[in-house]
Amino acid sequence: MNKLIDDMIYYAKVNNIPIIQEEGINFIKDQINLRDIKNILEIGSAIGYSAIMMCLSCNDVSITTIERDIDRYNLACEYIDKFNLDDRIKIYNIDAFDYEDNNKYDLIFIDAAKAQYIKFFEKFKNNLNDNGIIITDNIKFHGMVNHTDEIKNRNTRQLVRKIENYIEFLKDNKEFNTTFFDVGDGIALSIKKSCAN
Ligand code: SAH
Ligand code: MG
Repeated sequence: MNKLIDDMIYYAKVNNIPIIQEEGINFIKDQINLRDIKNILEIGSAIGYSAIMMCLSCNDVSITTIERDIDRYNLACEYIDKFNLDDRIKIYNIDAFDYEDNNKYDLIFIDAAKAQYIKFFEKFKNNLNDNGIIITDNIKFHGMVNHTDEIKNRNTRQLVRKIENYIEFLKDNKEFNTTFFDVGDGIALSIKKSCAN
């Protein structure tokens, strides 16, 4: 099992696939156990690393995950199969904006295109259970967030500005309270305001 996990981490590294950092996934695993999370919707599977790690954190967690890139999707399917998690992880090869789902989830993990974070949040908040949480990864974007003046590449600068806008959007949000955690590449945890936790 550990060998397979190491394989995934190595594959991601040499192929520049931005899988979640160890500190970040450990934070999410803790939240899953702390809050007794049973079902998860993940936006952005890549090769299935975070979905598999979340699944392994607890025996009765099930995950639906979405990946638009066909090669990454195929690889994720292979890994899910190797871990024998086919019955607990459902993966769809579709653009998140074309994906329709009426189910409610305890955790929604947003980790797809960073420039679209506000749109993902607005679309998928409807799939959240009343006591559920939304977790967003890469809120610091390699330490570039709040340092846009130092970014030379125009596209990167624009992307980082979008993440900054997302942070403002979360801070000003009327429906959700968000806490920002300086773990991994930065994690935001959002909870509906009507809930006491
Ligand atoms: N959660 C993964 C990493 C995801 S990387 C992990 O930590 O292991 C982000 C992924 O989101 C990429 O593979 C990219 O192809 C996918 N993605 C980006 N925009 C998307 C969209 N609109 N719909 C579906 N997948 C998307
Ligand atoms: Mg990420």
